[in-house]
Amino acid sequence: MAELVITGAEVGGRLVEVLVSDGAIAEIGVRVDAPGGSTRLDGAGGALLPGLHDHHVHLLAAAAALESVALGPPHVVDRDQLALALEAASRRTPWGAWVRGVGYHESVAGRIDRHDLDALLADRPLRVQHRSGAEWILNTAALDLLALEGVTHEGIERERNGAPTGRLFRMDAWLGERIGRSTPDLAEVGRAAARAGVTGFTDATPARGPDDLAPLADPGSGLRQRITVMTAPGADVECPAPLSLGPVKVLLDDVALLALDELSAIVAAAHGRGRAVAVHCVTRVQSVLAVSALEAAGARPGDRIEHGSVIPAELIGTLCSLGTTVVTNPGFVEARGDRYALEVEAEDREDLYRCASLERGGVGVAAGTDAPFGPPDPWVAIRAAVGRTTASGVPLGPAERLAPMAALSLFLGSAADPLMPRRVAVGAPADLCLLGLPLEAALRSPSSEHVAVTLVGGEVVSDNR
Ligand SMILES: [Zn+2]
Repeated sequence: MAELVITGAEVGGRLVEVLVSDGAIAEIGVRVDAPGGSTRLDGAGGALLPGLHDHHVHLLAAAAALESVALGPPHVVDRDQLALALEAASRRTPWGAWVRGVGYHESVAGRIDRHDLDALLADRPLRVQHRSGAEWILNTAALDLLALEGVTHEGIERERNGAPTGRLFRMDAWLGERIGRSTPDLAEVGRAAARAGVTGFTDATPARGPDDLAPLADPGSGLRQRITVMTAPGADVECPAPLSLGPVKVLLDDVALLALDELSAIVAAAHGRGRAVAVHCVTRVQSVLAVSALEAAGARPGDRIEHGSVIPAELIGTLCSLGTTVVTNPGFVEARGDRYALEVEAEDREDLYRCASLERGGVGVAAGTDAPFGPPDPWVAIRAAVGRTTASGVPLGPAERLAPMAALSLFLGSAADPLMPRRVAVGAPADLCLLGLPLEAALRSPSSEHVAVTLVGGEVVSDNR
């Protein structure tokens, strides 16, 4: 592989040149000894950071979500959630592309038509499938694009003046022909993450068999990042190259909650096979159960609590002594915080997505986006970890605010140990995120807009300049 020299890069507060050779950092200095013919990348004084690692993401679901958004219960139950879901879908859908919603039910916001949809999303084509599968509801931008005014089809419902209501019945084939069909596109998930400086993912969907991992291991997937995967308890899944094997993922569900001895047995079985566990905890009762099970089974380095959405203060000391890492999702503070204010009981609100109190209590914290369920841009999570404000600007758990560098560091740990910081250092893989400005300036307003170039193994995977 050819050598690459990154010039004028800010590393550890000073401007240096960085020589990348064979996918790794070979030399760092005021002037490096670059062989003739090396490619040069002008850092322009911007900070050179380790690439961000998203410690909790669901890649296949994120790919599917790029093309459709769940707009019915249990994901969306009222008009506010419908608006939030459409807004989020619109943000993650490439410009000009259709927003596609599925699973709509009138319990959400009544029997909607084009005008209702226009009020929620007017500036791009939107189609929403009713849960029955028999009906699509389109907004005006979509109707215009399909030139529906001039189409005769018995499935088109019309107002008395002949204008389409936006409701189309049993017209899937017709729509498929007009719009074109597509399959979930992992490459776009990877590209969007690369634009945000992400060079690695830990996929938190528990793989049950080889088929679950094949799409991620496929060299044709278009994903350029390094990927660590989790497996389901008891699944004897061989981890295909180039994927790395992460912990055993244990899902908890309040409706069918495991008994303490059942969960302890799962934890012990994973540990017995040399694997750490990652226990999904989004409620108070799940956190209590998970911590009790780890106490009963004995903790192992690498054990994780995923989400840690509600961690009662009295668990912090135990988490610290167990050495369990919390992989949290501060992005939800921004994305869902306004809903939490309405829906989460007051006693739980203080405990939502803790960061600073965990760190003060000696508990290691890292973060993931939980895309597609949370905002896929890790900088949204970084910003939320610093500001602790909801989308509408309301503070949520201000005592949990992290300093900007600590918030960024939530994404700078390694896949194998999210608390082990990766560094821009000789010998490290050249998985790098070059910002367009110095670190101090970038941290004043954390945003993926500051990301200039992203490299994985020394190869440019996104050039946003
Ligand atoms: Zn998740």
